[in-house]
Amino acid sequence: MLIMKTKVFLQTYGCQMNKLDTTLVTESLQRAGYDLTNGIKDADIIVMNTCSVRRHAEEKVFSHLGHLKHLKENKPNLVVCVIGCMAQRLGAELLKSKAVDIVCGPTQIPQLTDLINKTLQQKQKSIAVTSQIRRKVSNGETQALEEFESVYDTDDKQLPNQAFVRVMHGCNKFCTYCIVPYVRGPEVSRPPNAIIEQVKKLAGQGVKLVTLLGQTVNSYKYTAGEKTYCLADLLYMAAQIDGIEWIRFVTSYPAEKFFDQICQAMADVPKVCKYLHIPAQSGSDKILKAMNRKYTAEQYLNLLDRAKSIAPGLAVAGDFIVGFPGETEDDFLATVDLLKKAQYKNCFIFKYSPRPDTIAEKNLPDDVPQEIKRKRNTELLTVQEKISGQLSSQFLNRQVKVLVEGLSKKPHLDTEKKIGLPQLIGRTAEDWIVVFNGTPDLAGRFAHIKITKTSPLTLFGELVNISRSGYRG
Ligand code: SAM
Ligand code: SF4
Repeated sequence: MLIMKTKVFLQTYGCQMNKLDTTLVTESLQRAGYDLTNGIKDADIIVMNTCSVRRHAEEKVFSHLGHLKHLKENKPNLVVCVIGCMAQRLGAELLKSKAVDIVCGPTQIPQLTDLINKTLQQKQKSIAVTSQIRRKVSNGETQALEEFESVYDTDDKQLPNQAFVRVMHGCNKFCTYCIVPYVRGPEVSRPPNAIIEQVKKLAGQGVKLVTLLGQTVNSYKYTAGEKTYCLADLLYMAAQIDGIEWIRFVTSYPAEKFFDQICQAMADVPKVCKYLHIPAQSGSDKILKAMNRKYTAEQYLNLLDRAKSIAPGLAVAGDFIVGFPGETEDDFLATVDLLKKAQYKNCFIFKYSPRPDTIAEKNLPDDVPQEIKRKRNTELLTVQEKISGQLSSQFLNRQVKVLVEGLSKKPHLDTEKKIGLPQLIGRTAEDWIVVFNGTPDLAGRFAHIKITKTSPLTLFGELVNISRSGYRG
């Protein structure tokens, strides 16, 4: 007799941390006997992993919940779970929605399978979130997360032979605009041996690129006995693992502590990618102070100069918020100036979005009109596009090594040469996106590509040969 398994549909909003949590939850649900489905209409269980960083991200989830309410009318046994940052921020409030059955915060994801089993059996709503998010995480919770992390971590099926490994939870920086410290809790660094064991396990599964994750990954600090480990130690240790070819880390906070050691690791170890995602947020000292970012524009640029001189060839990426309360045209021009000087390969630019209960939301009026925010956003993107275009054009006629991710979003066939191969996408160690035509079985392998055309964010080229390793020689 054919037994139909219960089908789960998962949807992720937000950052790499959320994507990693989804990977863990997916693996744990599969091992508990659930099947995955790509079709929401086939699903018996829907898990939405949510983001609270900007209002727009939350609005998308609310609108989706509206649709699910209708879906449930025809399918009353459907179980809808909201997990992640919105679950922690809104808690019981979310359970009031007819669409929602389970609310589960980021610290409680190890409990999700049990919560689902219980809801299926007892047909009751349930909730598991942290009641005082800024309190020190209990040993029991830390241990549960540790086990969950190391047992269920696998390579991300979307990106073959790549995996994300969390090195720390939470954040203690309290930038005044940011919700993260209130939904992800205090900074907790994971033990280095657990991280390294996990990387070894992933390497055994064929993973070639690991990306170490932390909200402020360069603040990683763990004391064991006499020794205090920092991110640079993790980079040197991970580089010794056979099978691991490239190591990246995101996101860095512009701070002096450990900075030179981390840059030195990028210079010393060929496996450590020369890529630094280091958001500045603003180029105006007045705004940086109001944001509680603990540096001036000059200090930030000095850090970048130092990084580039220690690790030549370094590619930098940034984040900016435009329209923060009190941002004048002069403040914005200071941001444009910093962005030009920093020479980022790419930047993420956001319009300020007041987040409930953050210091900025409580104390500073959101006084920059929407159309000015929009205008500054577009202007900054235009300046960045020009810089990205200049940097990318330097690759023309050069050969680069990429780790192939798979088919590009629109995998056009190579009609020009009439060889009928689809377009693939890969990334260089420095995170440049490269598009070329090749066979889909190259996904997860390293390849040499000759660049024949460039645009600000993408390099286009032709496959030269397949490389056995990611070694940058
Ligand atoms: N931890 C990282 C850091 O400190 O750079 C990134 C955290 S956050 C998830 C990613 C980006 O979202 C931030 O760098 C910031 O530019 C942006 N962001 C955070 N809060 C925001 C807000 N209230 N409005 C607009 N953008 C915001
Ligand atoms: Fe948010 Fe600032 Fe922490 Fe980044 S460093 S997560 S922006 S509070």
